[in-house]
Amino acid sequence: MRVSLLASGSKGNSVYVETRETRLLVDAGLSARELTARLNHIGVEAESLDAILVSHEHQDHCRGLGPMARRYSLPVHLHDATRRELPRLGKIDRILPFDSGGCFQIRDVEVNAVPLTHDAAAPVGFTLKTPEGKIGIATDLGIATRLVSDSLRDCRVLVLETNHDEEMLRDGPYPWHLKQRIRSNHGHLSNNTAAALLQDLTWDGLEAVFLAHLSETNNTPELARAAIDTMLCGQNVCQPDVTVGRQAYVSDSFVS
Ligand SMILES: [Zn+2]
Ligand SMILES: [Zn+2]
Repeated sequence: MRVSLLASGSKGNSVYVETRETRLLVDAGLSARELTARLNHIGVEAESLDAILVSHEHQDHCRGLGPMARRYSLPVHLHDATRRELPRLGKIDRILPFDSGGCFQIRDVEVNAVPLTHDAAAPVGFTLKTPEGKIGIATDLGIATRLVSDSLRDCRVLVLETNHDEEMLRDGPYPWHLKQRIRSNHGHLSNNTAAALLQDLTWDGLEAVFLAHLSETNNTPELARAAIDTMLCGQNVCQPDVTVGRQAYVSDSFVS
């Protein structure tokens, strides 16, 4: 199994997941050229991908979706409501719609689309059950509902949003309405709310946690890591590797 954050942050997101039989992108929020280059950087040919999964229609998740799908003839799995919000996506040969809460199979990966609360048409996170263990991916969510935390249990690898530090957001330069949007139930998880969610998800099989979608204005990698490390230090269930996803370059991979 291999998991890498090709890019993470409010300017573009994409997660690469590889199992014995399957190679997936979750979101394609950089240009196709940049995604191709970042895949090459970790030794992966974009031609070898099996599919792209789409969490929601925001540009930081879909910027390179159409060009990637066309250039490499990739099937795209997304919600119908998400598709409708992407009128300029262009022609894609294989669009495979899923339902929120739905389940589907891509080779050796069982995908579950977990409904999230976020200001998009039908935002979802994903759990990927593979023969090598379960991966959970949840970014762009205002709150972690019971359904989200229940769905993300028993993961070997988690990709969780730590979008902002609550004080930096409060004291920062954003206009009031944008601050309100970010901290609303349909906004983004703070470092502290992500730590509380992670505390709920710790178990002795959790090996790696990626901190994702950090705001460049309202957070720092050090603050995000500190919030998570403080929580992890206070429990003795597991000590996963913690990696902070970056906007400008590919994160270290989890490989097993
Ligand atoms: Zn986003
Ligand atoms: Zn979003």
